[in-house]
Amino acid sequence: MVESNRTVERERLGTLIGLSRDVILVRDAAGLISYCSPAIEVALGYNPDQLCGTPQRDLVHPDDLPLRDAVAPRVLSSEGPQPIGELRMRHRNGSWRWFEMLETNRLDDPSVAGIVTNARDVTDRKGVEAALTERALHDTLTGLPNRTLLMDHLVLGLARTARRGDTLAVLYCDLDGFKGINDGFGHDVGDLALIEVARRLQQTLRTSDIVARVGGDEFVAVCDGFADPDEATMLAQRIRDDLEAPMSIDGNDIVVSVSIGILTVEGQAAGSAEPIALLRNADAAMYSAKEGGRARWEVFDAGLGAIEAQRTELEPELLRAVERREFALYYQPIVRLTDGVVVGAEALLRWHHPTRGMLSPEQFLDLAERTGVIVPIGAWVLSEACDQAARWRDDDLGPRWVAVNLSVRQVAESGLAATVAQTLAASGLPPDALWLELSEAALLRTGHLAATALVAVQALGVHLGMDDFGTGYASLLNLQRLPIDFLKINRSFIANLTGSDRGGNNAIVAAIVQLGATLDLTVIAEGIERPDEMNVLRSYGCPYGQGYLVAGPSPASHLSRPR
Ligand code: C2E
Ligand code: CA
Ligand code: CA
Repeated sequence: MVESNRTVERERLGTLIGLSRDVILVRDAAGLISYCSPAIEVALGYNPDQLCGTPQRDLVHPDDLPLRDAVAPRVLSSEGPQPIGELRMRHRNGSWRWFEMLETNRLDDPSVAGIVTNARDVTDRKGVEAALTERALHDTLTGLPNRTLLMDHLVLGLARTARRGDTLAVLYCDLDGFKGINDGFGHDVGDLALIEVARRLQQTLRTSDIVARVGGDEFVAVCDGFADPDEATMLAQRIRDDLEAPMSIDGNDIVVSVSIGILTVEGQAAGSAEPIALLRNADAAMYSAKEGGRARWEVFDAGLGAIEAQRTELEPELLRAVERREFALYYQPIVRLTDGVVVGAEALLRWHHPTRGMLSPEQFLDLAERTGVIVPIGAWVLSEACDQAARWRDDDLGPRWVAVNLSVRQVAESGLAATVAQTLAASGLPPDALWLELSEAALLRTGHLAATALVAVQALGVHLGMDDFGTGYASLLNLQRLPIDFLKINRSFIANLTGSDRGGNNAIVAAIVQLGATLDLTVIAEGIERPDEMNVLRSYGCPYGQGYLVAGPSPASHLSRPR
């Protein structure tokens, strides 16, 4: 009886292993393969019999052997499965595939008598990850580094400057009247001109310098190792001369000019400089160069700090705005792509400023976040959005659920779960009708503590998701580790989704949609503006989307239609 149970058990195990896409390998004490699961055929192209009796090491990429050897003692001395990390194994066709591996020591178990390797093929994930990292750090049009990568270099450059005691310069370059080129010659010519500007900038600078594209027609160079701050102005002069030489694009003669803001930091001061403030100040100097008549440069001096001060004038007004009820929520419908039915809506914050008119979050969120005012504002947003969604449901009108954006500050502050629970109870909205969004960057920045806070929030039964996916240092592994159940593809990936895959977004979007399905994450595409983008998304099986093509954000009343 016991024996036959065991046979059944073994058969069932055999069937399960046969079905599994994970590869299972067993190697004996001498390191020779004694068992291979059938999945090896698909994963590495070998017939299991071909590999039995050969050293398992031979399959592993030579560069990855040290990693494997380093964990070997841990595997030998532990009972349970040990994570080995990600290693490459050779496919029969000579290519290398990436595997995520676990190893379990069963040498003492007579029925196994070996070390069991569980290997899952993650090659596709790695490919998407590499593409995302490239995207996250570079500008797609010019291939130059973007702001994120620039900031990394700036931090390193400042440390070097402090150590060596020389000078670092930030040159903020803004093309003059570039809109005229776009309007006069068309966007394609404008794009080619930007590519040419990028090329010339790189040519003028030394290879150790870095130049990034940080906005439509804005470029920032960070150069260190100057003996004297005056060298920075000489460099600005050279950049200006090089950029002003006429370019011939598609048979058009195009001349651009540039305004440059220069900021220098010397020696010790570099050690305590705040990178973001440096960039802001170089930007302020660039503005003052423009105001002074364009095609010139201006060196930052403390007097320009006054410009920065103007921007913080909003601060006391922001504090008062909560009490004065100057905030409002707009809602943007989220639709099911198969039939266009509105399923949910995203709440988007607006500030009706008494004198400046309606302000969008981009104009005040940074400040609200820095000063912490985002916490009371966020609590108001949450309660207003839940009340609205509960009304829609009660009247059987409009969207069934509401998505609310959370800021890092709200998550870091203790008591987020309690606030959400109270707000839900007060509005009568069922938890699963509340979808909370945190940007990818914010989710990754929230440390352990916050992860606990998020788990507590999710335990209430609300949905938690990653906003702006693809804009941070994306690691797809994080998707598995974070307590999230939906994912919003950032609009930069959706722009220009076409049959011809201009810009290389199609493959990435297709892979993200597929990944979402594999990891059981609901995928929502943001910023759908054109019918062809919608069609491509549908063809990839992307389930949900939002964007101007369907509707932009509008007051709640616009969405209160019978379903
Ligand atoms: P988000 O969460 O990525 O929101 C989408 C933004 O894209 C919105 O800008 C929306 O108006 C805009 N948008 C929607 N469809 C399209 C489209 O088809 N094309 C284009 N070009 N844009 C589209 P908005 O309302 O200005 O919000 C900007 C950001 O401010 C949001 O980005 C979100 O990160 C943040 N935000 C908005 N409301 C709140 C809030 O209540 N709390 C917090 N913490 N952040 C908020
Ligand atoms: Ca959002
Ligand atoms: Ca977003």
